[in-house]
Amino acid sequence: MRVFGCQQNFSDGEKLRGVLATCGFAAAPDIDRADVIIFDTCAVREHAEERVFGNVGALKSVKQDRRETVIAVVGCMTAQPTVARKMRDSYPFVDIICGTNALTELPRMLCEVFLSNSTVTEVGGETFPLDDSFEQLHTVRDNSFKASVPIMYGCDNFCSYCVVPYVRGRERSRAPEKIIAEVRALVADGVKYVLLLGQNVNSYNADKYDFARLLSELDEIDGDFWLDFMTSHPKDCSEGLIDIIAQSRHIVHRLHLPAQSGNDRVLRDMNRHYSRARYLQLARYAREKMPLMSLTTDILVGFPTETDSDFEDTLSLITDAQIDASYTFLYSPRTGTKAATLPDPSTKVEKQARFDKLLAAQRAVSEQLYARYFGVTMRVLCDSLGRVNTGVDGWYSGKSREGIIVDFMSNVDIKGQFVNVVITDTKHWAVVGKLI
Ligand code: SAH
Ligand code: SF4
Repeated sequence: MRVFGCQQNFSDGEKLRGVLATCGFAAAPDIDRADVIIFDTCAVREHAEERVFGNVGALKSVKQDRRETVIAVVGCMTAQPTVARKMRDSYPFVDIICGTNALTELPRMLCEVFLSNSTVTEVGGETFPLDDSFEQLHTVRDNSFKASVPIMYGCDNFCSYCVVPYVRGRERSRAPEKIIAEVRALVADGVKYVLLLGQNVNSYNADKYDFARLLSELDEIDGDFWLDFMTSHPKDCSEGLIDIIAQSRHIVHRLHLPAQSGNDRVLRDMNRHYSRARYLQLARYAREKMPLMSLTTDILVGFPTETDSDFEDTLSLITDAQIDASYTFLYSPRTGTKAATLPDPSTKVEKQARFDKLLAAQRAVSEQLYARYFGVTMRVLCDSLGRVNTGVDGWYSGKSREGIIVDFMSNVDIKGQFVNVVITDTKHWAVVGKLI
């Protein structure tokens, strides 16, 4: 199985693996020996879709050599009827094409293909309900000490550039007791980092629980672990939520708050429902409560109505809000969205120039902000072997409670453990320190 895209897709991938394990499948050592090949796809940008088309096309020879291999293309990209049709027309050798309903429907579709030797194309707009049969799906986790827990699926926000509400359906929140039980079980199993997932976690709403209440109750679980969440929409993020984070025992001191733009008119055209001033207010409040916290964001460059002068407001937002790191994307028109119907007068060259300016501005702000960690002792969850060496006596890499990448040396294997590291050098994307 190959998974493209966001954390939600990786989480779906773990569930799909669980579903396949329940059906008796095990992971193949390599693609040439796989009975079933699955692509779980992303639709957020055109580039992601092109990569999938390229990768699936390359499987033609696999199918020629071994006709019995089943190929499935599932997820957000093929949840769009036009894309599913194009996939079917371009690659008739693909056996299963479906949308985000694969999580619950894949076993049935596989049976159909195995028993009748036919292809299946099923593209539902709305996806699965979060009923008991969904809750009983088994998950095969990728990592022994880090886990993601979806708390809701779908999105009702319809930001004018975004395809997600069309491919993932309406918002559905999981029952709080299921989420709390799942997190408790993960912590008991030795998990040290739990990431709560949702397109807009602040819209979580089930059985008299809102996100703040859910988060507070999860924070009461005993154990040595960190609790993270994404994504928080600025329109629904509140000072109250920031207070909960600041006073918490387990919640990470990093807020990922996608701004998309720093210009009020562009934000209105994007249908984001907050202003630059409100974004700055939240950023300042968070820093006041947690001086060392990190603030990260997503920026969409080149929205159809954005001009060079509007973009200057985005550039200055990086400095004014003191953003530690931003994930930057060049606007990609998505069929079916409102933005795709708007005139888009800026040229590719102009948009690329804005993009490059943004990277340079972010780099300068990050460099200056990361310097505040110099001399600080950070608690770090050691993630992996670092960039320089492999194995004992080498470099390790982890993340601090502020979500900052920390590189350090250790002569014992401490992967998956919390350690304390005093910071001796800072860069614009990471800090380097000495293990205490
Ligand atoms: N629910 C999350 C975003 C999920 S998509 C939120 O609201 O923050 C992740 C990021 O992809 C978005 O924040 C946006 O910056 C980017 N993105 C979404 N649609 C896009 C498009 N059409 N072109 C380029 N980037 C896009
Ligand atoms: Fe897309 Fe907006 Fe929903 Fe995020 S909140 S998934 S950007 S529509």
